Amino acid sequence: MRQEDLEDNYRHKGLREKLVEELRGKGITSKAVLDAINKVPRHLFMDTGFLNYAYKDQAFPIGAGQTISQPYTVAFQTELLDIQKGDKVLEIGTGSGYQTAVLLELGARVFTIERQKELFLNSQALLTRLGYHPRFFYGDGYKGLPAFAPFEKILITAAAPEIPDTLIRQLKNNGILVAPVGGETQEMTRVIKHSRDDVDVTKHGYFVFVPMMKGTNGRNGTSDK
Ligand code: SAH
Repeated sequence: MRQEDLEDNYRHKGLREKLVEELRGKGITSKAVLDAINKVPRHLFMDTGFLNYAYKDQAFPIGAGQTISQPYTVAFQTELLDIQKGDKVLEIGTGSGYQTAVLLELGARVFTIERQKELFLNSQALLTRLGYHPRFFYGDGYKGLPAFAPFEKILITAAAPEIPDTLIRQLKNNGILVAPVGGETQEMTRVIKHSRDDVDVTKHGYFVFVPMMKGTNGRNGTSDK
């Protein structure tokens, strides 16, 4: 069940400010990122039963076997992306839409892809009601969006076994890609693409994400790839 009234009251705002302080304490320094986290009503992206947990620094289930990322992780990935106003950003794994909203608050133009039909539909409905307007795509993020490439930034929010080459190709020169790379645990990886065959790869600690899967999954759970 979703938060039908979309209420964002002083209590939520207070909890959000505390969360921002917690993230600052954990090493997030970008004021722009912290301000964005302070603006997005995370409790509206979670089931009502989780209201009391919405502003804890934890990941939570959002249905379809997926999770809304931990706020620290969202902030950390966003900081690595170094979003500038007007950046064209490809996001893979819309999920709840929370990370999408944070990117939009930073002034990015967001193209977001989700492979689970139910999550694609839910996040589209919610973000639209909240006044967030990314471009939504139902599809397989491994393919990226060649028709809309190149992108200044690419963000993968599911565990990729390796950086998909297709996505590096859709990155602009001097663009940045951030992705958790690995199996059971992943290393946060940042790729800066100087030119087609000159990329810088740096590692930024260990995280745990749900896996990046191939193809798409319809509402009934069957694959239609
Ligand atoms: N950023 C999200 C967290 C998403 S969890 C949030 O803030 O809520 C990762 C998401 O990636 C899941 O919704 C999963 O369905 C999606 N996903 C996994 N593999 C994918 C792929 N190949 N293409 C698009 N989405 C994918």
